[in-house]
Amino acid sequence: MANKLVVGNWKMNGSRASNAALLEALKSLQPWSCRVAVCAPFPYLGETALSLQGSSIAWGAQDCSAQEKGAFTGEVSAGMLSEFGCTYVILGHSERRQYHAEPDALVADKAKVALAHRLTPIVCVGETLAERDAGQTEAVVKRQLSAVIHGLGHCISQIVVAYEPVWAIGTGRTATPEQAQSVHAVLRSQLRAATQKAGDMALLYGGSVKADNAATLFAQPDIDGGLIGGASLVAADFNAICRAAG
Ligand code: PEP
Repeated sequence: MANKLVVGNWKMNGSRASNAALLEALKSLQPWSCRVAVCAPFPYLGETALSLQGSSIAWGAQDCSAQEKGAFTGEVSAGMLSEFGCTYVILGHSERRQYHAEPDALVADKAKVALAHRLTPIVCVGETLAERDAGQTEAVVKRQLSAVIHGLGHCISQIVVAYEPVWAIGTGRTATPEQAQSVHAVLRSQLRAATQKAGDMALLYGGSVKADNAATLFAQPDIDGGLIGGASLVAADFNAICRAAG
């Protein structure tokens, strides 16, 4: 894919003041030759949207409900996000799978609802260290992606996939470019079996991407950009990663 995509996942970080400063700094650093987005916590989405109006930076959420509406206390629907002009929604992040016991089928249901509201799901897949050590990496990521392929059918071409090895998230331990590329190649071929548009889909790598390792990761043939956690909270670091994707 020619035009790479770099997405910041702020997770449960920030404040009105620090977000405003971060967004102002990012706006002053644009444009980049890649596509750029930031995914903020729910309460800050409205202000993020306002701040980014007229900029080249898109915004997204970090989750949404699989339900359309109703008695689901604490949930946020895809329709609500869409109403605010949301572009992306991260789904199936390993922290949601781990701390909220989200199964593959739920992630697929969320992706379906998100697409119905014209959001682009960024579906995360990735193995734990124990699964990698047991030689199960390929089986795990294929199972996770397969649930979404099964749920979306030919619409699978409209999602973004993020490979995020759980052992590399927030640990400072990055997959080597070769490790990441080999899993991306597996995912690409799985997508090819489901859609003729697999070559145009963005497959992001996430897991301790930093300014100094981004360029070699992004140079891999099946790595179309990155999902960036910690480094997306520092404008200079996020900017350097976006430049590396150019
Ligand atoms: C993430 O949580 O999506 C992530 C990739 O985090 P980090 O970059 O901090 O490892």
